[in-house]
Amino acid sequence: MIDIIFVFILGLFIGSFLNCVACRIFLEEDFVLKNSYCPNCKHKLSALDLVPVFSFLSLRGKCRYCKDKISWQYPMVELGTGIVFALIYYYLGFSLLGNFSGYQIWNLFYLWIVFSLLIIAFVYDARHYLIPDRITFSGIIVSFLWIGFSFYSKILTAGEVLGFVYSGVFAALFFFCLWFFSRGKAMGFGDVKLVFLMGLVLGFPNIIVALFFAFMTGAVVGIILIIRGAKKMKSQVPFGPYLIVGTLFALLYGPQVINWYWSLSLR
Ligand SMILES: [Zn+2]
Repeated sequence: MIDIIFVFILGLFIGSFLNCVACRIFLEEDFVLKNSYCPNCKHKLSALDLVPVFSFLSLRGKCRYCKDKISWQYPMVELGTGIVFALIYYYLGFSLLGNFSGYQIWNLFYLWIVFSLLIIAFVYDARHYLIPDRITFSGIIVSFLWIGFSFYSKILTAGEVLGFVYSGVFAALFFFCLWFFSRGKAMGFGDVKLVFLMGLVLGFPNIIVALFFAFMTGAVVGIILIIRGAKKMKSQVPFGPYLIVGTLFALLYGPQVINWYWSLSLR
């Protein structure tokens, strides 16, 4: 239990960094060397202003220097990253007492890196309605390296490696058709690249679970927004966040969903 709390706190700090990366990609600033500052008054932030979630709560959501409101995005992304990190750790079966191979530990790091990139994509797409290529392509490169390493370590057979690649290609082709035939109205081209990455991470048939989840939740939220009058039928809604939540859902529950589906159809 103490290890899960530790992983959660690690995730909070990573989340704080991911917020910073997402903002600085947009502003085209260096995101490693430059100090953090308030986006309104540009005052340099001290260590006390940068404690994830806690700083936001203790400052009641306002900048210490200019009292300007701080976006809810910051604590939400920090909390979200903490939860995602802990969930991945827990679902991979890690515990303080277990004995884990080097490969399993690398697998944990691989998934943490991929989901960190996906969280940046989530925030960026929700705010700016596009996904930076740097983020998607980094994820694709990391995934190819991981699949190659798994093959080299004799964890995956050549057939299984192809399975992951085909999943990406299948998902990307499907989304390419949606993008092409709707002339970019149903999907952005960023989503085509994102689902290729999802296929590489999830493989088959997990990718189907992720896409299905994204379409279902996207439709439900879309209908609720239209009923409440918040969105018009035609207004643009970024689809990336649904795909990314779908990826997490499929990673954690994909096999159960597929077993449940087969048990229904065999009855
Ligand atoms: Zn300020």
